[in-house]
Amino acid sequence: MADCDLCTVAIPTVVPVRIFVPRFEHSYPEGIWKGLCESCLKSAKETADKLASSSSCGTAGKCNLCGAIAQLQPVQIFRPSFSKGQEEDSVMLCKKCLAAIQKADKEWQEQKANEHAEHH
Ligand SMILES: [Zn+2]
Ligand SMILES: [Zn+2]
Repeated sequence: MADCDLCTVAIPTVVPVRIFVPRFEHSYPEGIWKGLCESCLKSAKETADKLASSSSCGTAGKCNLCGAIAQLQPVQIFRPSFSKGQEEDSVMLCKKCLAAIQKADKEWQEQKANEHAEHH
């Protein structure tokens, strides 16, 4: 089992996303791998897509994934909740992380399509 780095849900497979953490720049110049569940991946990707066509410059703060101080965009997620099943929440992500998620989503969809093709 793995935990989603955004909503913390425990699932068998998370989607790998390569994130550049400014704090780990020297020890991990290639970036580090984070894992997102498909629901967070989709939500973050939609935010990234919308951002491309909007003029919103975001809110300054600390990115929930890489910890960078940057202009952030809110991404709506659902956290697992014991009382309600799931609870709506939002995380703040920087443009770099959103771009990394867009890329990861594309690769993930391609990988899924390939797997599908191989099985048939
Ligand atoms: Zn998640
Ligand atoms: Zn970030």
